[in-house]
Amino acid sequence: MKKTISVIIPAHNEEEGITHFLDKELFPVLDKIKDYNIETIFVNDGSTDKTLSILQQYAEKSRNIKVISFSRNFGKEVALAAGLRYAKGDAALTMDADGQQPPSLIPKFIEKWEQGAEIVTGVRDHFTKHGLVQKLGSKLFYWLLRKMGNRYTVPGSTDFRLIDRAVIDEYNQLTEHNRITRGLIDWLGFNQQYIEYTYGARIAGKPSYNLSKLFHLAIDSFISMSTTPLLIFGYIGVIITIFSFLLGMFVIIQQYILGDPLHLYWNGAVQMEIFITFLVGLVLISQAITALYISHIHAETQGRPLYIVDKKASRNL
Ligand code: UDP
Ligand code: MG
Repeated sequence: MKKTISVIIPAHNEEEGITHFLDKELFPVLDKIKDYNIETIFVNDGSTDKTLSILQQYAEKSRNIKVISFSRNFGKEVALAAGLRYAKGDAALTMDADGQQPPSLIPKFIEKWEQGAEIVTGVRDHFTKHGLVQKLGSKLFYWLLRKMGNRYTVPGSTDFRLIDRAVIDEYNQLTEHNRITRGLIDWLGFNQQYIEYTYGARIAGKPSYNLSKLFHLAIDSFISMSTTPLLIFGYIGVIITIFSFLLGMFVIIQQYILGDPLHLYWNGAVQMEIFITFLVGLVLISQAITALYISHIHAETQGRPLYIVDKKASRNL
């Protein structure tokens, strides 16, 4: 029996470019793939233009073209989650509707999957589309992510990816709401391979992700994947406390025990300032401790499974 591949495409207000993308780029590639059944799943993410009716017309023509339509805009991450939930394929390939990711690479993704990869991720070879701010921003983002202990995410990795049924099933079990698909799939583990590609220009229309949305996405990634931001202030607190404690001891010994041999004449105000700095340090530390408790609660509410079993690799369970 032929294997099935589900191609999942989230679309939000893409009326200007989507017809061109589908007729001229995506479907010609998919039509050439004869060894697999292809199901195409569009997720209309609350478009306010004609995107939905365009997609519905495609769905009329073929039963293998499916449209999930959201009641409003829920964001691309959620749209991908819905697509993966409805996907029936042995593998699912996710890509954007704006033509920035070349469909001509799809056979390559499938090939890598057939060779044993369970996740094949498209990685941008360079940042063609973005302006300087976004370029620097994304460099900083990956640097921070790494510093915060997320070792799974490769810089430049995108949502142009193919994932095996085993990974889809595990992904569908995850219940957290504030989700970053990339981060979650990386977190799941499995045999991951990469394909480099050049991120093209949009066929038409404007990206829905502006700088501020990207910024929020970055913050969400940090918060959902790691607790380090909570602890930074705790570390600062420790440094301040130690420093002001040493300074305080210095004042006591130098001024009161030895009788100010250095002739500093530090008065009460200076001593008070050192003492207050010491207290500020303590407050920061205690905040970080509270933050740790919150982070544990946060981890519990995310409800992630303790571990992911690779069912294909396990035996006689
Ligand atoms: N998208 C979506 N919901 C949104 C925003 C975007 O489904 O709220 C879709 C959009 O139609 C496109 C993909 O997600 O297919 C990527 O969006 P965009 O091109 O705006 O982002 P970028 O290219 O900057 O990653
Ligand atoms: Mg785009």
